Amino acid sequence: RGKRAFIAGVADDNGYGWAIAKSLAAAGAQILVGTWVPALNIFETCLRRGKFDESHLLPDGSLMNITKVYPLDAVYDTPEDVPKDVKSNRRYAGSSKWTIKEVAESVKEDFGSIDILVHSLANGPEVTKPLLETSRYGYLAAVSSSSYSFVSLLKHFVPLMNPGGASISLTYLASERMIPGYGGGMSSVKAALESDTKVLAFEAGRRHRIRVNTISAGPLRSRAAKAIGFVDMMIDYSLMNAPLQKELSAEEVGNAAAFLASPLASAITGTVLYVDNGLNAMGIGV
Ligand code: NAD
Repeated sequence: RGKRAFIAGVADDNGYGWAIAKSLAAAGAQILVGTWVPALNIFETCLRRGKFDESHLLPDGSLMNITKVYPLDAVYDTPEDVPKDVKSNRRYAGSSKWTIKEVAESVKEDFGSIDILVHSLANGPEVTKPLLETSRYGYLAAVSSSSYSFVSLLKHFVPLMNPGGASISLTYLASERMIPGYGGGMSSVKAALESDTKVLAFEAGRRHRIRVNTISAGPLRSRAAKAIGFVDMMIDYSLMNAPLQKELSAEEVGNAAAFLASPLASAITGTVLYVDNGLNAMGIGV
């Protein structure tokens, strides 16, 4: 049978999550997505009204089919973790079973198992502030939603992942090189994610034969990136300075994810794969 993928962090057709879903679908995988609860309504409405119809088109002319959309808030592991004001919030009250543990249980109930787990989500409430001006709250909130969320997702999905399965997250060069503008602790968040990739590759590899890799992606005009505000500058910088002078398409990252999730990458785990037109190789701008 074909493989089944769960992709956390899809709420429109602009981001890396959507592109990864498409590349996996083009390779024959069944697609399940996890959508942030506050974004769920508008995402489902857009899907229903055909707003993303053109974006569903796969290279062979067929259309991507999203088998099921699960509400998800990756900041909460179990229902006991959810504060009262969030539970009663208008945007949350309309959905149920959206903590990580419950989503894993629902996927298990619906489909039994998955083969591929993708983490394509991040949130840093103070991303526009320099680290020196970031509050403890902002820093920890960023780590919670962008780094620990991957640890928790893997922890809860591992029991339903078939041996030989693969998981992938998305990281950014700011983890290892100073990139002004990527603030609020988001650089720290990506450093944690990359380090955790190694530790989790060992633990999930030994215990469950599951591979864990992360893609260090170049700049893309996604919703999240536009919120940071400096993405156009980063795209221009890359065009000027990267070995490959072309704009990076989300599809190129999607295709790299499909490769990492496939048997072609069966000996690759614990790595950071750069999909950035080679910008990471440069020491100085030219
Ligand atoms: P995006 O806006 O498409 O994706 C981010 C998603 O995270 C959104 O769908 C949002 O709803 C979701 N999200 C936020 N908080 C959540 C939570 N608590 N629970 C569940 N979902 C939540 O933007 P993107 O840029 O495609 O981001 C995907 C990944 O790619 C992120 O990890 C990001 O850091 C990484 N990345 C992006 C770029 C870039 O330039 N866009 C570069 C390198 C890495």
